[in-house]
Amino acid sequence: MSSDRVVARWRREPLFGPGGRVAVLGLGASGFAAAKLAAALGAEVYASDTGTGPELRGAREELAGQGITAELGRHDLDKVLGSDLVVTSPGIPSSAPVRGAVAGAAVAEVAEVELAFRALQARVIGVTGTNGKTTVTELTARVLAGAGIGAPPSGNAGRPLSEVAMTSPQPPWTVVELSSFQLSGTRDFRCDIGALLNLAPDHLDAYSTVGDYYRDKARIFGGADPDSRWVINADDNEVCAMAAGVAGESYVVSLEAHDLPGAYLDQEEMLSYRPAPGSEIEHWGSAGGLRLHGRHNIHNALTAGVLARLAGASTSAISRRLASFGGLPHRMAVVGEWEGVQWINDSKATNVAAVVAAVRGLERPYCLLLGGRHKGEAYGGLADALGPLCRMVIAYGEAGRTIESDLGSSRTVLRAGSLAEAVEKARAATCAGDVVLLSPACSSYDEFRNYEARGREFERLARPGGENSAGEERSSPAAAEAVL
Ligand code: ADP
Repeated sequence: MSSDRVVARWRREPLFGPGGRVAVLGLGASGFAAAKLAAALGAEVYASDTGTGPELRGAREELAGQGITAELGRHDLDKVLGSDLVVTSPGIPSSAPVRGAVAGAAVAEVAEVELAFRALQARVIGVTGTNGKTTVTELTARVLAGAGIGAPPSGNAGRPLSEVAMTSPQPPWTVVELSSFQLSGTRDFRCDIGALLNLAPDHLDAYSTVGDYYRDKARIFGGADPDSRWVINADDNEVCAMAAGVAGESYVVSLEAHDLPGAYLDQEEMLSYRPAPGSEIEHWGSAGGLRLHGRHNIHNALTAGVLARLAGASTSAISRRLASFGGLPHRMAVVGEWEGVQWINDSKATNVAAVVAAVRGLERPYCLLLGGRHKGEAYGGLADALGPLCRMVIAYGEAGRTIESDLGSSRTVLRAGSLAEAVEKARAATCAGDVVLLSPACSSYDEFRNYEARGREFERLARPGGENSAGEERSSPAAAEAVL
């Protein structure tokens, strides 16, 4: 049977009846899949996006070919507010006027993952946290694939969950990456197995307070019941506080040895797993055998191992796949070494906590590129965390001034207008033995379409002669808004 044949039926309580009117906000990958899913479930669909770019035009044409109405350049409020259900893509911030209008009109509104969940047969491994979601989601899916257990990655960064819900036959599992924006629109969504990786301030451009952001994260526990299984980072106090008292079985992950069910690093730095209190310990190889760098990635590997183990992966499949995983692009990815200077692309680090994790793993003097569009979080917390190996910070882009003033006199800070100028300054300021690290703590939208475009541009500029080759197409701030 073809895996992309559009097949859908309700497997849980329906969100609308036959012929129900459904408005889908946003026509990126998630909105596009949600529009198709809603139509396959029998809805009359109106999908809209304020953007007008070529990818959106392609999506509109494809939906039109299936008899689904899609509009670009605006949301028709009459149609949106006149619908029985609004399905929101994760890229539409709660500050968007259309979200305000929907909230004010009291139309039922759900996230794309909620719609998908109601039609999903695959069992759910949910992954959330401030940092490491994509890494853990991918790694868990790969471990399970290595064990012969179908569990494709889906959700925030991968294939939309709505698309998984339309495949036939469905895989036994799917590993769903859940952002706070997706979780905020969940109702009955339930993880069979869930992981909360860590909690740190982020997205303060979209949330009024860190507490509001954490409250959305806590929704991963929304469907908790005695059959739920949770993987919890015991080294993070906020995570422990949030997970305390949640129904279900807990498996603890820590870099310190412990005697609870879960995984840890033992004194010989072996990745160790205890399935139940008092049971025999399994070993998944040594931390030194991982291709992933940094202590945070040991956490990620342990978490992925526990998730996969709970879903049925064998110890040997876990050991093999953890050891072979080389990490994902734009996350502490070594670009190369020229004239003794190593260049590392960590463009996906868009908050302070991710930068702290990045620099903790460095063993050479380094020059750090921080900058882009400010997301509302203060940078002062970095001053101590950068440690003695930090030669200097180059603060660039829209956030450059704020970064410079937040770091005060604690560090040598050079200013640059663009990423290209920051790279030029880094090249001039470093010598053999150093590292140049792009780990920006900001979003990319002041200069680029997304973090991938920023990372690719950094990699191009890093290579000798790169500044003379064709560059990434920049987005104007207006275009960046459309991407949001
Ligand atoms: P997310 O999907 O949550 O954004 P990613 O796996 O894409 O997570 O990684 C985003 C950034 O966070 C990268 O810079 C990466 O190096 C860093 N990171 C990954 N895992 C962790 C972790 N467990 N703790 C802190 N930072 C992490």
